[in-house]
Amino acid sequence: MNIGFIGLGIMGTPMAANLVRAGHTVVGYDVSTTRLDELAELGGKAAASIGEAVAQAHVVITMLPDSPQVEEVVFGEGGVLEHAPAGLLLIDMSTIRPETSRRVAQAAVVKGVHAIDAPVSGGEKGAVDGTLSIMIGGRAEDVESAREILRVLGTTIVHVGPAGAGQTVKAANQLVVGGVYALVAEAIVLLEASGVDPKAGLDVLAGGLAGSRILELKRHSMIERSFQPGFRIDLHHKDMGIATAAAREAGIALPMTALVAQLIAAARAQGHGALDHSALLKVIERINS
Ligand code: NAD
Repeated sequence: MNIGFIGLGIMGTPMAANLVRAGHTVVGYDVSTTRLDELAELGGKAAASIGEAVAQAHVVITMLPDSPQVEEVVFGEGGVLEHAPAGLLLIDMSTIRPETSRRVAQAAVVKGVHAIDAPVSGGEKGAVDGTLSIMIGGRAEDVESAREILRVLGTTIVHVGPAGAGQTVKAANQLVVGGVYALVAEAIVLLEASGVDPKAGLDVLAGGLAGSRILELKRHSMIERSFQPGFRIDLHHKDMGIATAAAREAGIALPMTALVAQLIAAARAQGHGALDHSALLKVIERINS
């Protein structure tokens, strides 16, 4: 298949590389030319514009930072909907506001484009290994036609509801991930302050009921204070905003989410926005120093 891939960052580049490896023709676009060079080295084709990435595509995948970038790329002048061939399948895999995904789906239908929201979980490692969890909002027939492509990128692929529902599930995912990071950070600070080896301590936790993918994958780098992203604090801050807005829209209170959102906001205010979200540990340390 011809696939247009827009947004070749930490996640987009390895995802595009997996699609190339699976035998698809991938024409990528990113505002960063460095990213385009990288795609070309991986066997993809670099496009000079969104139009070039979209014109011959059967499927367009977007993997962009936030709602404003998706709006610009999809609705903007020279954007996806302006160049979309009829029948195009548009898979937005960015984490954005559910409301924006619904607007994309509505505008797409008018142009004869099939749009689904398919945000992911699993981090950079999941993107590299092709083992992402993918939560999809959209019409059942569009989800079915996306499955072959999505199977290259992920292993858990679930249709969770109509347009925007994938983003609501992703918001739920992000509040859980943020909460677990905050508590793993507190566990490390407690163990160290009590003179207990945090490595031995977290090894035991990882094997018991407290075990999680975060403990499994990130405990060593957290103990070593290695905070190379990964997933940037800035992006998690955006996601906590999406979660708290979704709660407001649903008319419910999420007290733990609000607290974790404030801790992530503090990490950002302390200048750690470009670090991995495991750098929440720095905030817990600062509270205690
Ligand atoms: P990133 O910042 O590394 O990549 C985003 C890419 O989009 C960049 O290369 C940037 O140059 C490009 N871009 C920005 N505006 C553009 C535009 N107008 N046109 C074309 N390209 C543009 O971010 P990432 O970590 O790859 O995350 C992408 C999305 O996936 C985000 O919504 C994020 O929340 C989500 N996500 C990230 C992770 C992770 O672990 N990094 C995990 C799950 C989901």
